[in-house]
Amino acid sequence: MKPYQTALYIHIPFCKRKCDYCDFYSVCNSSIQDALLEQIPLQIYSLTSDYNVDSFKTLYLGGGTPGLVSIKGLSLLLAQVRKLNKGVLPGEVTLECNPSNVTRDRIDAWKSMGITRISLGVQSFQDAFLKKAGRQSSRSLILNALTQLHDASCFDLNIDLIQGLPGMTQQDQIQDLKEAVNWHPDHISWYSLILENGTVLKDQWSRRNGLLEEDNDLAWETGCKILEGEGYDRYEISNFCRKGKKSIHNSSYWKLEPYLGSGPSAVSMLKNSDGKIKRFRTKADAQGYSQGHFSYEESETIEVLDCLKDTLLMGLRLSEGVSSQQIKNIFGWEITELFPHSIKRWVEADCLIYDGFSLRPSRRGMNLLNSILISIFEELDKQKCAFTLNWPSE
Ligand code: SF4
Repeated sequence: MKPYQTALYIHIPFCKRKCDYCDFYSVCNSSIQDALLEQIPLQIYSLTSDYNVDSFKTLYLGGGTPGLVSIKGLSLLLAQVRKLNKGVLPGEVTLECNPSNVTRDRIDAWKSMGITRISLGVQSFQDAFLKKAGRQSSRSLILNALTQLHDASCFDLNIDLIQGLPGMTQQDQIQDLKEAVNWHPDHISWYSLILENGTVLKDQWSRRNGLLEEDNDLAWETGCKILEGEGYDRYEISNFCRKGKKSIHNSSYWKLEPYLGSGPSAVSMLKNSDGKIKRFRTKADAQGYSQGHFSYEESETIEVLDCLKDTLLMGLRLSEGVSSQQIKNIFGWEITELFPHSIKRWVEADCLIYDGFSLRPSRRGMNLLNSILISIFEELDKQKCAFTLNWPSE
């Protein structure tokens, strides 16, 4: 099997305290941090050998709170990744951090160790909502972090915002968005709050008030217009960027390219020696992991039809859509042969755009994506095509 390139995700599963809406895996026991960090390069080495991975296109340090990791710990980790990647770090290296992690010393260290992009978990600029979300943050911490990052001016900056925290009106949401825009970040991720099972917020606030839902929709429409007016491209349903500032790492997920996930609970999608696609999760067990036990769960081989559906499910979230050539290269069919009726129907409804090179959602289509996908999948299920699988496409 030919070696191939992947995106690399490292999950750092430590947080000071669990936020009330969060269902990402993290623990508050930082005493095992050093031991866990030492294991990460070993797992990466093991997976690259088992799945014949050649090198890494991007690196994303997510969590948890990677910004909490000591300068020494992070620097050692990145030095190991560099060794595993032919002596260089990928061109895009993103570090997720919370406002309280940002200090002048850390900024200097992050820069010198090769971080190129900071994703700052702001979520809201308003103390009342930060408190409701159980965030260990405050407006003053956020403004301090943004001022320091702005003054240092050495990273691409993403600001993460949550739309629709409990009690947020349309005005509150727009106020947050406008305040984020005033800092001129390169990228803004504006996600709707999803009340995940098992989170404190879900238990406290299980029924949404109809008026607030309506407010969220209005805020969404207004917010998209504001961002576009300020020069941000809505390149993915919930992600906006200035020209040339897309997240290359996250784009790999949306384009269904291979990714290697290291650290407890991280998911990988890699090519198996039999040519099939394997997706699996590292067990969410920080204690066991820190002692060198890498076990995997939710392991599945992705069938070709499911891979095609996933490619469409993710790709149609992007304003650039799905490339006809990519579909042909991977699955051996022209996109117009696969679901011609759905293409015709949704193009006529001004929801999809097809120009021979790509199939992409219109602005209207982005808001109706679920209905579009249901109709495409129903048509695909009736197809009798014999698919090839040539993944990842070159
Ligand atoms: S939202 Fe971020 S900081 Fe809060 S618990 Fe989740 S991973 Fe940790």
